[in-house]
This record gives sequence, structure tokens and C-alpha cells, in this order.
Amino acid sequence: MAEINVLPPHLADLIAAGEVVERPASVVKELAENALDAGASKIEIRLRIGSGSFIQVKDDGDGMLPEDAGVCFLRHATSKLSSPEGLERINTMGFRGEALAAISAVSRIELITRRRGEKTGVRVQVEAGEIIDISEYGCPEGTSITVRDLFFNTPARRKFLKSDKAEASACCLAAAKFALANHLVTVRLVNDGNEEFFSPGDWHESSAIYNVLGAEFMKGLVFVSSQTEEVEVSGFISSPASCRGNRTKQFFFCNGRPISSLLLQSALEQAYKNRLMTGKFPACVLQLSISPASVDVNVHPAKTQVRFRDERAVFDAVYYAAMAALGAEGSAPELAIPAAAEQTDAVALKSGELDNDTIIIDRRSSGALSGAALHDGAAPYLTGQSRISGVFSASGAARQSAAGSIEAAASPSYGLKSAKPSAPRGFATEAVFHREAEVAPRAEESEAAPYRVIGEAMKTYLIVETEGQLLLIDKHAAHERMIFDRLLSSDSGAMAQELLTPVTIKASPEELELLAESSERLRAIGLELEPFGQGSLILRTVPADMDPSDASALVEELFEKLRLGEKLPPEEARESILRSVACKAAIKAGWDTEPGELELLAEAVVSGRVKYCPHGRPVAVTLTQKQLERSFGRIV
Ligand code: ADP
Ligand code: MG
Repeated sequence: MAEINVLPPHLADLIAAGEVVERPASVVKELAENALDAGASKIEIRLRIGSGSFIQVKDDGDGMLPEDAGVCFLRHATSKLSSPEGLERINTMGFRGEALAAISAVSRIELITRRRGEKTGVRVQVEAGEIIDISEYGCPEGTSITVRDLFFNTPARRKFLKSDKAEASACCLAAAKFALANHLVTVRLVNDGNEEFFSPGDWHESSAIYNVLGAEFMKGLVFVSSQTEEVEVSGFISSPASCRGNRTKQFFFCNGRPISSLLLQSALEQAYKNRLMTGKFPACVLQLSISPASVDVNVHPAKTQVRFRDERAVFDAVYYAAMAALGAEGSAPELAIPAAAEQTDAVALKSGELDNDTIIIDRRSSGALSGAALHDGAAPYLTGQSRISGVFSASGAARQSAAGSIEAAASPSYGLKSAKPSAPRGFATEAVFHREAEVAPRAEESEAAPYRVIGEAMKTYLIVETEGQLLLIDKHAAHERMIFDRLLSSDSGAMAQELLTPVTIKASPEELELLAESSERLRAIGLELEPFGQGSLILRTVPADMDPSDASALVEELFEKLRLGEKLPPEEARESILRSVACKAAIKAGWDTEPGELELLAEAVVSGRVKYCPHGRPVAVTLTQKQLERSFGRIV
């Protein structure tokens, strides 16, 4: 008799279940991620571990059609992937169609769901992978999944579980990581009847951190923000003084997924070398954004491990981001730099406990905030009327520049030894700046505070003195915003520069098709692309500010955006493309920048026209005279 059996599907599910559902916390993670993929803006997680245990996740997302509600429990049933090409550009948390199959194979599940726009919902009951009932059900739009008696039919598996308390706290940790990764979504966690946290989903990463990890955790955090060609790193790390006895407060995320990574851990810890006592470890909440093509999340079914294509680049990005945030080694005692007043309010008012040394910076996510919204209101740091004598006013500079003279804007500054006129590459020429001024007439109306440019540090931060405070301006972020706003407001088409040698770029048939549909839109922002023979296209012009050597990278990114853009409202899709162009066209950290350019940036920020980069990061942080005085013990 033959000795090889093909396992029946149910047995295969049971085995696979062990990989996806290791413990109750995996259920929390998978269900919450499904809610997110369904576009939920509010997610409630309730759990009780122990006798009568259950895990319930409710969302206000898209819900499922009655005919999908039973199918979703089948192995490899997913609405998120339909072709091999799709695997290259996953933009959902799930795609393997395994979680519900795996969870339902080892538990009793009740699914209640109603598709958005449908009149009624449906209720499905599943036990050990078998559907035992499906019936019509009255319920709100969205989905609620309740998982009971996890591992009831796999006693061997149950034996590997830790104590109820340990499993419950692993569940809470999974929910916490989820909320930290998704500060745009309201997440509420109730464990054993007690609310563990309520993360308001108000777009502030800092309020997610505050609500999930507590006020104590916020103390002594340092803001991190850096961007290299490959990797964007943002978030918070602990100051050396507030490091801890273990690593439990290190939270890393990659493209919105919580991940554990020895690589990232050691990059972070290297940055603290010679600053920490042995046995102390930094804490962090760090978000990495990497092009999906450069990171493989498909390493393990639970997707908590990732493989980076260029590990060195990722290591360096985190290491240098942390180093920059911590400041140069051997420097004076660290000063925590608070964000502009407006930004601190949300959290600081609420807590009543935060001291002035706490850094809270609002990191608004891109997307939903339009350029206009970001523009609103004067710069929060421009209060008070006293003038620093001999320093010219920002609005004056704006007028001079708008009249067409960059020298005029540059020359009155102090501290810049050679404020020579220039219109260097990658930066606004007079004409460009002229349009800038037209875009934001408010700048001329508003009585901006006087300021002086002190200089530039680390080829990245512009140091500017205004009334009673220092502003540190991220030159890339500020310039990026200026270009973005200009592109956004120019309907007539951006200026294009012709490439001396047109660039040919390989493109798939799908990309060529996308191009055919969008060539007008791209031309309007200065990109002239045409099909060029078999499987390639030719790029003839790039936006005026851009370095031609960045052109092909930009085109690659644009294809990604065009693909994603198909799902977005037109205006959002356009903004997303403009963000890419602005980012590529802006001066970069690490580049030499002419004093005249720095002056224009300073003016744009001080006048309040530029506050956030198009990705939502602040372009400037402030250090007040009071803070300095307190730090030097001049006042208490
Ligand atoms: P995956 O997330 O990898 O697609 P899952 O097994 O987690 O696989 O889910 C299977 C399918 O069930 C999903 O693709 C989705 O269509 C549907 N689904 C699961 N949870 C929800 C939810 N909360 N809201 C709407 N649809 C859901
Ligand atoms: Mg899933």
C-alpha cells in the first residue's frame, strides 16, 4: 500500500494555523489588520483571556457582502491579491488569505458584518473550520469578529501557552503596536472590562504614543526625522538620560507594520554608544518608510520579520537619524527642543503632567491634509512685537524677492559671509520665487517678525533667530513645501527643463498604459514622457527645479503613485504625485546650499507660509530663550 497521503484540507489548515496563530496575540494582530485593510476609522478591541475567554474586534470599515462572509474562512481566500504582479506592490496589511482560515480552524468564531451601502448584514458561525450557521442579521455597517475558545481542539498547542496574564499582556502589546503604527485610526482596547487605552486617531503620532504608552514614556523623548534616498525614518527615541533597563520599549515599524529586527535594534543602540551606561537601553517608536520593492514582508506568515534588500542602507538610515537626533557627541547637556506652541497643546494640555523638557511634535500624515489647510494661520512662533534692532523684517524680504532680486533678499542678513547672488540648481529662480509670492499673498500682508539667519548646521538645519527664540529649520523639508505649494497652485503648467540627453526608461506594458492615460497630467507638472520602442519610454523634460540625474528614480516612483492613484480621488492622486516631484526637486540635507537660498527658506518659514513639509513633518522646531536660560540655570 502506498505510504504517502495527501493531507485533507482541514488537517493542512490545522498545521498552517500554527504558523499564523501562535497565540492569542496573533489573533488580535490579524483581526485588527483586517479592520484596517477594510478602511476602518474606528476599531475597538475587547478581550478576556482565561475562563470564558474571547477576543473581539469591531470596526466601522467596508464590511463584507453576504456571499463573501462564508468564503472568507477558506484558506487562500483574499480580496487583496489576484495576480502575481500584485505581490510586488502590496498596500494592504494582509494578502495571503490565511488568517481567518487559520483562526477559524482552531476556535469558535462569530462574524457579524454588513457591507457599506447594503440594507442588512449577515451573521456567520464557524466552529473548528466548519460553518455551522449563516443567517441574515441586523447590524451596523462594518464588521465584528468574536473568537472564542482558541485552541479548544488542539490541546497540544494549548500547552505551549503561557499564563493567562502573560497571554493577555501579549495581546495588549499587539494592540498597542497596532495603535502606534496607525495614529490616523481611533483604536480602543478593553481588557477584562477595563479600558487599557484609547488612541484618538487624531493624526498626531505623539498623542497615540501618549495615550498608548503613557505620560511617563513621553518624558525625555527626542524627535527623529530623516530621509535618505532609500529610507525615511521618523518618530521618537529616548534621550540618553531616560533610557531603560531593558528593550521592551523599542518599537519599530516598517511601512506601517510592527516588526522586530536585530538590525534596527543594533543600529539604534550603536547611535547611543559612549552615551549610555552598560545595562541601559534606548526606547523608541520609530517608523521606517521604504519603497515596497526594497523590503520583503513575505518572509513569515505573521509578517513580523522583514528582509531589507539593502541592509546597510537601512542600518545607516536609522543610525544616522538617531545620531542626528541625539546631537553631536560630547556636546553640551542636551536641550530638549519643544515644538511650536500650537503643536504641543493637544497633548500637553491633556496630560497636565508634561514638563517643558518634553518634546511633542505633531506629525501630520500626508494625504488628507490639503495644501491650503497646512497653510492656514500664522506661524505659532510669531507672537509678540518686540523687534531685534537692526534686523530687517520678513515681509520686506518677500517684497524684495518678489520684485525679482535674490540679492535683495540675501544681503541684509547677518552672519553670512558671502551672501552672493545666485540662482543655483535645484532652487527657485527669480521667476519661480515670484510665483511663490503670488501664491501666498498673505505673506506680504502679515506683519512677520524680524529675524536673522545665523547660519547652517550639519548642512541640514538652518539656524534663525527671531524674537526670543531660535528656529531650527530643516532646509529640505521647507524647500520641499515651497515647491509643492507652487506646483499645487499652478494650473497653467509648471516650468519644465529640457534634458540635453533624453533619458530612456524601461517600462512594463501596464506602465506604458498608465502613462498613456496620464501623459497630460504629467506634462502639466513638467514631465514629458513618450513611449519609445518596445517596452521603454523616453523622458524629454523634467520639472524646472530638478536635478536631471534624479529623473529616472522619479519616474519609477511616479508609476507606483499612478497605480495607487487609481484608487484615490483625483485631487489626492495629484497631490501625491506632486509630493514626489517636490521631494526630488528640493535641496537635500548634506548638500551645500547658497546663503541666498537659505535666506529665502528662512523668510518662507518665519513669515508662516511654510509650516509642514508635504509629508506632514514640521519644517522647523524652536528653542526659546526661556528654555536656554533654564538650562543654564539663569532662571528656575
Ligand atoms: P487577508 O487579510 O490576507 O486577505 P484574511 O484571512 O485575514 O486574509 O481575510 C480574508 C478576507 O476576508 C479578506 O481579504 C477580506 O476580504 C475579508 N475580511 C476579513 N476581515 C474583514 C473585515 N474586518 N472587514 C471586511 N472584510 C474583511
Ligand atoms: Mg488578514
